[in-house]
Amino acid sequence: MDERLLPIWRHVIARNPGEPEFHQAVREVLETIGPVLSKRPEFARQKIIERICEPERQIIFRVPWEDDSGEVQINRGFRVEFNSALGPYKGGLRFHPSVNLSIIKFLGFEQIFKNALTGLPIGGAKGGADFDPKGRSDREIMRFCQSFMIELYRHIGEYTDVPAGDIGVGSREIGYLFGQYKRLTNRYESGVLTGKGLSYGGALVRKEATGYGLVFFLREMLKARGESLKRKTCVVSGSGNVAIYAIEKAQQLGAQVVACSDSGGYVYDPDGIDMAALKEIKEVQRKRISEYAKLRPKAKYHPGGNIWEVPCQIALPCATQNELNARDAATLIKNGCIAVAEGANMPTTPEAVRTLMAARIAFGPGKAANAGGVATSALEMQQNACRDAWSFEFTEQRLAAIMENIHRQVHQTSEEYGASGDYVTGANIAAFIKVAEPMVAMGLI
Ligand code: GLU
Repeated sequence: MDERLLPIWRHVIARNPGEPEFHQAVREVLETIGPVLSKRPEFARQKIIERICEPERQIIFRVPWEDDSGEVQINRGFRVEFNSALGPYKGGLRFHPSVNLSIIKFLGFEQIFKNALTGLPIGGAKGGADFDPKGRSDREIMRFCQSFMIELYRHIGEYTDVPAGDIGVGSREIGYLFGQYKRLTNRYESGVLTGKGLSYGGALVRKEATGYGLVFFLREMLKARGESLKRKTCVVSGSGNVAIYAIEKAQQLGAQVVACSDSGGYVYDPDGIDMAALKEIKEVQRKRISEYAKLRPKAKYHPGGNIWEVPCQIALPCATQNELNARDAATLIKNGCIAVAEGANMPTTPEAVRTLMAARIAFGPGKAANAGGVATSALEMQQNACRDAWSFEFTEQRLAAIMENIHRQVHQTSEEYGASGDYVTGANIAAFIKVAEPMVAMGLI
């Protein structure tokens, strides 16, 4: 790390004790942006980095609700509004038992940079709750969402903060959240949430966007190395929204996706993952991935298995943070992997990233590679603002163009700063400059 950044780094650790994921996300950025300070001394003078590391606003609240048996349940809700230099705060809500302030802050911090890379006018935020949707009935989910919104509504708005989904929050939850917001405010404010259902202001391609965008980015990464997805064996961890649509697009572009997973284990299907079976289990029945093997005779379920042991040329971690460690990276390299692109946020540990880059594997960091989801959220906001609805084809073309543009920027920046092909450095520097410039222009706020 540049020695000018070391005191900032130490200060972040001291001020935010017990937040390892947040520290990890900040460290990764500080380790790469040193060279910008020499070129742009005004950023140091204006303490832009110190300001970026401190959220503009953090909200923590109680979410009481009643389960189906009549028992009172208490969860903790969060919204961390990190940076609004480029536009209203924007970022998803995560409902998962692991959620805590550290996780929301790491996600919110990364979101600032990711959103900047899209080139669209959105600031960075993240929120959620330590609520576990697993095994909960629809009515319980609805009651939880309504209680969550009773506090959140006063902090959000089309021009203020626009939440969306993340792990555990899909169109069902967004529907309940939107309904409650509308009722509390008496405003049909479509642009207050994204990832809405198509029947009330949602946008085509939003559901597919993170996974599709990831594969569009991957296609560019491979192209830069004279490669393509055709006939490549691919492994995708996770089986949520990001994983499902990454698998779909990778298959459409000619790859053979042979495995996907959930927290219980992975399935291997030598014929390639069957989309109809996968969607039926995950989207319709909301069941575990182990069910997949029951529908496909040749598929095998590996309970507790490590998906990164499945030989592949392309690995797409699409589950959750720190799911791919240095040992997994070494296994991927040994098995002939040529590219890793992150569909999840921070799924690759810092040691694993170093291992992959040292072996000259093409590595696409989530901030760039998975930005298609939030970019398409910004397109949903555009459609809501002009009360319009675009076709699937048009929206997908826009998404593809955005991902190509992100790749171009990241690649060019890596070259400009003498780190050709290092997408971590390229993404961090390109995004940092995009956020720092308006912060300087707007003065000390
Ligand atoms: N949670 C997604 C992300 O990490 C989407 C956020 C959004 O659409 O606002 O980018």
